[in-house]
Amino acid sequence: MTVSTSPASTPSTLTLPTPVSAVTRGLVGLVLFAVGVLVWQQACLELVKAPREFSLHLLGQTLTLRHGRQILSDGLLTLLVVAPSVMWLEFALVGWRNSSLRRILITRSPSVQLDIACLAAGQMQILRVVGAVLTFGLATWIGRWASNTLGGGVLAWTGVAHAPYWAQIGLFFFVYSFFDYWAHRLDHSPMFWPLHRFHHSAEEFCAITSMRAHPAEFTSIFLINLPMAALGAGVDVMISVNLLVTVLGLLIHSNIDSDWGWVGRWVVQSPRGHRLHHIKDISKPVGCYAMVPLWDHLFGTWVEDPPGRVEIGVDTPYVHGYFLFADLLRDYCDLWRASFQEVAAYFRSAPRIGL
Ligand SMILES: [Zn+2]
Ligand SMILES: [Zn+2]
Repeated sequence: MTVSTSPASTPSTLTLPTPVSAVTRGLVGLVLFAVGVLVWQQACLELVKAPREFSLHLLGQTLTLRHGRQILSDGLLTLLVVAPSVMWLEFALVGWRNSSLRRILITRSPSVQLDIACLAAGQMQILRVVGAVLTFGLATWIGRWASNTLGGGVLAWTGVAHAPYWAQIGLFFFVYSFFDYWAHRLDHSPMFWPLHRFHHSAEEFCAITSMRAHPAEFTSIFLINLPMAALGAGVDVMISVNLLVTVLGLLIHSNIDSDWGWVGRWVVQSPRGHRLHHIKDISKPVGCYAMVPLWDHLFGTWVEDPPGRVEIGVDTPYVHGYFLFADLLRDYCDLWRASFQEVAAYFRSAPRIGL
């Protein structure tokens, strides 16, 4: 297992920390990270039990927030606890100069500005609304239908619901990663690539790059949400799986330059593995699609990590910056253009019936 800071981005004048201070920072970072994640999970579980509406009494006025628990569990806690915890861990391991915190607070390249804009728009539920509009409400409707009609069927049949809580989390994460793998493969097809390209357009990794996703990316609805709803995991189990996925997403987009040894090779994707997936040079087949690399090995998409750091990004020029809608709209138009081209190509190649 290798963990190292990037030599390319370390100036010759930088004084490297002594091994003891690096280990201490790493341990303190790990402890705070674990505490942060546990607080987040506990808060999410408490919010599930909370009433559907929150009433705030301010200056004699009563403000009622509907769906408050979802907004809080999806947004504020990610923003206030999970993302800072991961970024603290990254800072402890790679130092200030290579950290996401420095990229967000100090340097803020146009690429990172887009990451920040996506995080903010996502937490404020703006992207959810934009996604509903761009998918003509399909995403919202299917999600609601799936949870109302499919929930619980397979679980009731298999009896998995009676398994220990942690076993259920492990099982559902494993199942989730299978569907996520195939949704991700579909995202890289010519038709859906323009939407997923938005995520790949990041020119540098920052932990919150995981939040950069086109709101109209609806492949996951059919290939992840529907099967997961059919399996019918309990709300608390799904919250924990969601936590795991969120934390993993932040970690693999961090600047922790590690392959995680055999764990990163078989069990959970590492930051180096995901960086390889984001490679700009696509002259060779892209690989490392899965959160659980076992799927890459099974379906022939595992690629070996070359030495050194690979350049990430896409050839398509992006505006980037805080105003994310220019890039979002261009990629959405490209989706429809690519779809029409695919359909036209299909009919051109289809055998004609002579009359
Ligand atoms: Zn991808
Ligand atoms: Zn990514």
